[in-house]
Amino acid sequence: MTIGWCFDNTYSKLPDPFKEEIGPIPVKNPELIILNKNLSKDLNLDFSNLDNKKISELFSGNTLPEGSSSIAQAYAGHQFGHFTMLGDGRAVLIGEHLSKKKERYDIQFKGSGKTAFSRNGDGRAALGPMLREYIISEAMHSLGIPTTRSLAVVKTGEDVIRETALHGAILTRVALSHIRVGTFQYIAAREKKDELEILLNYVIKRHYPNIEKSKNKALDLLEVVMEKQIDLVVDWMRVGFIHGVMNTDNMSVSGETIDYGPCAFMDAYDPKTVFSSIDHMGRYAYCNQPVITKWNLSRFAECLIPLIDKDQNKSIEQATEIINSFEKKYEEKWLNMMRNKLGLFGIEDKDKFLILDLLTWMHQKKLDYTNTFCHLMNSEIEKNENFKDHDFQNWKKRWQERLKTNNNSPEKYIELMRSVNPMVIPRNYKVEDVLNEANNNNIEPLKRFLEILNNPYSEQKNIKEFQLPSFSKEKYQTFCGT
Ligand code: AMP
Ligand code: MG
Repeated sequence: MTIGWCFDNTYSKLPDPFKEEIGPIPVKNPELIILNKNLSKDLNLDFSNLDNKKISELFSGNTLPEGSSSIAQAYAGHQFGHFTMLGDGRAVLIGEHLSKKKERYDIQFKGSGKTAFSRNGDGRAALGPMLREYIISEAMHSLGIPTTRSLAVVKTGEDVIRETALHGAILTRVALSHIRVGTFQYIAAREKKDELEILLNYVIKRHYPNIEKSKNKALDLLEVVMEKQIDLVVDWMRVGFIHGVMNTDNMSVSGETIDYGPCAFMDAYDPKTVFSSIDHMGRYAYCNQPVITKWNLSRFAECLIPLIDKDQNKSIEQATEIINSFEKKYEEKWLNMMRNKLGLFGIEDKDKFLILDLLTWMHQKKLDYTNTFCHLMNSEIEKNENFKDHDFQNWKKRWQERLKTNNNSPEKYIELMRSVNPMVIPRNYKVEDVLNEANNNNIEPLKRFLEILNNPYSEQKNIKEFQLPSFSKEKYQTFCGT
């Protein structure tokens, strides 16, 4: 029995400036920590005939599968607003795998050693951050949010030096592609129109074949990517996800959540929530995520200007019109998402006020975002005196009046709410707990955690400790995943 790899590499065939041909740098003593069986199945890959040593050799990159053709991708990006040349500094794309349904997936090793784009970095990654990415990306997938996936994590048997010596590790990341807004920025900065056209056509063929025949492909690409990104950020807002480092190199043109560095989930509802230790200005705060999405899309639009119209002014005018439609589209999608969270069918003008009043109250009372919606679905996670509050009771009366106009049974609205309001999210302190255990060679708590996170919309027995927010008064801080 073979594993089932079916490589069909297209990105590596693009012209030289797009990439560096380079393989993973072999590691000393690879050891498999976790393999994603569900994802393997989805990809039609079967590792069951390999022993752990062989699997470790594979996912460390010490032996590359047949048909792979390994590259580091070039890209640029605005990091906290500043333009920088970047590229895969510690990752290689080993190839594009086709599932039996002919779905195409990038298979990338993250933490695989230095490349031409490593700048001052060591090309490596530590076990904690790679397992963190594994947990959160898989949780996001189970929440129904587009995301890169995590297929495996291996320890390298080598230390990586950060503030202290840490276990080195490699994550196998699976994505629709790793083409970013920053990829366009990199090519656009080279000011060669033919290269930009190659990238445009490649992306459309790979991700948006329905616009392949359109009259103005560049303009249409801008519009579809904007739709995808709005859907994505609305999903993040729905579950209280804070990406933490929405640089343009971390925005995928396929519309998947990518790059799980300092991300985390919000407990108490506070629009200004920031976890990242370096985000002093709150650029990537919860409430600023749609604003930054638009900002990043504007950078994307700038790259496409040469391809929209021969007349630059006309190009700018048309692109601007699309970018300016962001707010209206976002607000509409956000309102509908919030309606779903409250079980509201149909559209009423007053809905906006009902929604905003609840959020304002939650903010004032510092109530847990996830568990407040559980309370409204009659799933009490924690007894909270605030729910007896006069203002809340008044709000509830208004909500119940509005529910009557649903013209639907109560079962229907609860069903709707249960499909969008998670019962469990990766609570920050639980993430830290299981990572600490994993660092001390105990992976079992992490596996149990993943199982729970696999069914976020179901009632599960005996998981209360995973549903409660932290009692700690200390502010939770996250760090970029280096
Ligand atoms: P990130 O913050 O993960 O989005 O990474 C930003 C840039 O820094 C990318 O070009 C990464 O490849 C690069 N980078 C991050 N960590 C390392 C590292 N340890 N060695 C080399 N490059 C790195
Ligand atoms: Mg990145």
